[in-house]
Amino acid sequence: MAKNPGRCWRCRRCGTLLGVERGGKLHLKYKNAQYMVEGTVTAVCHRCNELSAMMTTGSRQDQDARSETPRSGA
Ligand SMILES: [Zn+2]
Repeated sequence: MAKNPGRCWRCRRCGTLLGVERGGKLHLKYKNAQYMVEGTVTAVCHRCNELSAMMTTGSRQDQDARSETPRSGA
């Protein structure tokens, strides 16, 4: 099932996994809750309290919408 492992977002100081980016969205897990966020995210490492920030590569949905090019000739 782990076909798309995504991009790991790790603490820049101790390497603790903070989240995983998939499809332009950052997946965060906290206990039984899961979050999907876009844009610039800042997190405090629960291990070393280092502040880490990352920006997702999302917000490119405009290009997907354009793929619906009307083509004649069925
Ligand atoms: Zn850390």
